[in-house]
Amino acid sequence: MRVFKFGGASVKDAAAVKNVAKVLQTTGFSELLVVVSAMGKTTNALERIVESYLNKRNDLKDLIGDLKEYHLKIIEELFDAKQHPVFKKIENLFDDLRTTLDRNKSTQYDYIYDQVVSYGELISSIIVSEYLNETGYTNEWLDARELIKTDNAYRDAEVDWENTQKRIVEKVNKKGLTLTQGFIGSDENNFTTTLGREGSDYTAGIFAYCLGADSVSIWKDVPGVLNADPRVFKNTQLLSHVSYSEAIELAFYGASVIHPKTIQPLQRKEIPLNVKSFLNPTTDGTSVKKGQPLDPYMPCYIVKKDQILVSLSSLDFSFIVEDNISEIFSLFHEHHIKVDLIQNSAISFSVCLDDKFDYFEGLLGKLKAKFKVTYNTNVSLYTIRHFTENAIQSLEKDKDILLKQITRETYQMVVKD
Ligand code: ASP
Ligand code: MG
Repeated sequence: MRVFKFGGASVKDAAAVKNVAKVLQTTGFSELLVVVSAMGKTTNALERIVESYLNKRNDLKDLIGDLKEYHLKIIEELFDAKQHPVFKKIENLFDDLRTTLDRNKSTQYDYIYDQVVSYGELISSIIVSEYLNETGYTNEWLDARELIKTDNAYRDAEVDWENTQKRIVEKVNKKGLTLTQGFIGSDENNFTTTLGREGSDYTAGIFAYCLGADSVSIWKDVPGVLNADPRVFKNTQLLSHVSYSEAIELAFYGASVIHPKTIQPLQRKEIPLNVKSFLNPTTDGTSVKKGQPLDPYMPCYIVKKDQILVSLSSLDFSFIVEDNISEIFSLFHEHHIKVDLIQNSAISFSVCLDDKFDYFEGLLGKLKAKFKVTYNTNVSLYTIRHFTENAIQSLEKDKDILLKQITRETYQMVVKD
């Protein structure tokens, strides 16, 4: 059995959805489970809907209306007959979305976020499933929330593997073509949860692990995993093979082609992961599997923007000791803040933080009560895996470097933007 994942860009308009069918025609579509993300930039649009709702702004209706228009335009292009059931299904989902907001009593941002943002994947998967059914790719649509069970850490939920495995094995027909959503799951009380932004890759990994799949393919608008993000760097090169551990390292440092959590479940069962272009489905792309770290071997560049560099020292200039450090880390953890780099000296401790969920403000007060805190927001963290002197020199040129760190395989610097 195989698992495919089609991300937002691969279903962003009617032509893209038609292309999904083309890919399936090329690869075959039996014994296949397909995970889809929300269409195009829908998740961002839904995030704006959450903001508008919570701030009681008067553009809420328009924002929902625009998102509905966007999807209606796609289905009008995909389906000839206005009476096709897909129209009613999408209409109903938008009605549900409004009802969810109208009836909501919670003030918990993360909870509301998941209840709303999950509609992107529900809508997208219905459209793709209906289109494939219509064009001869008969499939079964499954609600991932009935399969992927998680804790209730909304926006960053942890998978309950045992329960999830049981449900997936029970519900997925391994012989046929199954279509489901990435990114979403549900908690013990059946409230919708999400696995973190860009979490659809991870969903593909979860399904593959639970089904003992032969491979996972992630279909992208790039030819595979490149040695740098082509939006930021010139002259990027395709990596034809990356080992699991190298892929985990690259994802950890911020290579956005693969979601960091995706690889571990695959590595455990040695399931290969292919990253391929949905525009050229017969070309090889990148395979992530057991073996050499990188082929071809070359420096890989990663940049993470919008980071915060924080330096802490004790108020009385005493040493920063294990006790302080463990306390600092529990605070980061409590506030869902990811630490991307650590450097410490006797009296100060610096960390580069990724504040994906905007919790830094809340944390700052607590840190200031105990430490002398200095920080820079809007810094970028650059990483070179398998660096060379040349690579470092050219990267450092004309940059305002705040901090540098070199280990055996990895060079990192924090830079003012
Ligand atoms: N739609 C979600 C996002 O944009 C999940 C994903 O695309 O993987 O973050
Ligand atoms: Mg996406």
